[in-house]
Amino acid sequence: MDQATNKDPIELLIHAGSGADTWLLIGGPIIVVSIFAVVYAVIVWIRNKRETAELRLEEERLNRELPTSQAGAEADAEDNEDEDSADKWSELVVDESPQVTIATDTVTTDVEEIRTTDRASWLERLSRGLAKSRASWQQSLSLILTGKSRLDEQVLEDLHAALYRADVGVAAADSLVDHVRRTIGKDNATDPAAVANALKERAAQILSSAANTPLNKPEQGPWVVLIVGVNGVGKTTTIGKLTAHFLANEQKVLLAAADTFRAAAVEQLVVWGDRLGVDVIKHKQGADPAAVAYDGVKAAIARRADVLLIDTAGRLHAKQELMEELGKINRIIGRDLPGAPHETWLVIDATTGQNALMQVKAFSQVVKLTGLIVTKLDGTAKGGVLLSIAEQFKLPIRYVGVGEKAADLRAFDAGDYAGSLF
Ligand code: GDP
Repeated sequence: MDQATNKDPIELLIHAGSGADTWLLIGGPIIVVSIFAVVYAVIVWIRNKRETAELRLEEERLNRELPTSQAGAEADAEDNEDEDSADKWSELVVDESPQVTIATDTVTTDVEEIRTTDRASWLERLSRGLAKSRASWQQSLSLILTGKSRLDEQVLEDLHAALYRADVGVAAADSLVDHVRRTIGKDNATDPAAVANALKERAAQILSSAANTPLNKPEQGPWVVLIVGVNGVGKTTTIGKLTAHFLANEQKVLLAAADTFRAAAVEQLVVWGDRLGVDVIKHKQGADPAAVAYDGVKAAIARRADVLLIDTAGRLHAKQELMEELGKINRIIGRDLPGAPHETWLVIDATTGQNALMQVKAFSQVVKLTGLIVTKLDGTAKGGVLLSIAEQFKLPIRYVGVGEKAADLRAFDAGDYAGSLF
């Protein structure tokens, strides 16, 4: 029998440096690791080559289809001081489909409305938006507390059940009820206002634990934000609203229509682009989404945009494809602009309740999310779902939408939200 196999590995190490045993113990693993490293490097190299070739083909196709374009995105990026070059490229990528007529004063309407929405009027909008949730909750609370003299375990159990029905989730409901139990004095045990205040206090803590992650903004160059979410959640409208917000803050914005799967998605984004006077980088329907994102980044650099918002397809039903698509977009835009995308925000529709939670879970598995945007809070009595999401996923909620207008979207504030919810 081979002696080497019978020896204690420690002993082998001690006597390392002499004979075939040493080679077996040290040389073997090194060779195996080296082979793996080489194979991995070759795979990455082949994949990069293939993606670059695909992008080149896509660009060639685009150039053939739009003969006005002599300068491509590459040339534009190299000569970003040159206005002519940028103009030529505008011809290449900016929408040329029949335009939707929009009143020219709409830009000022959207942006001005945001500028004139101060904190007090935003709180009014938020309160109006959450009116259904608040009314439903206040009704439940009054039913639970009416005729009760003490906040006993039965009352607390009813409170827990009502919170659960409001889509708050078990963990958040536990935490809220615990806080009520600890903070409410015996004297005002059945005062709905006191209970609501205790709930607001704890809800703000739960929501802010997730909200405090700072935004990842580059020191220089465009801030690239990838917007993901399934169809119908309000993704395109949210991109339009975000654009109006950035414009109101004097930021130069560019949009990239990388949801090439649905023609309507591109058209809808172009409508927002026209409405706000912002260019939309787009290719034909069915084009490679990564190529659109790539052109978007090139254009954002060349045109010195402050923000690039990239719309993507939300084909969650084809999870593997979606994962590959988003993975490719991430790799390709990161190649020209290291660190991009800086943020990846998932848009969810509050009216879908538990389904929204499932979407957060599913998207977290296909892409690294850095934040959430919750829309249509005005259309549901289940605004409590944010607590469930915050408790479960610890993802920052970046913005909330409480209506269809641009000014109905605002950066999320945990205290304000909790204050309007209960
Ligand atoms: P997408 O398919 O995800 O891009 O969804 P859209 O942006 O087309 O939005 C779908 C519908 O939701 C549109 O009618 C929007 O006006 C509407 N919508 C979006 N956000 C909100 C919101 O916060 N509140 C309300 N009430 N409607 C919204």
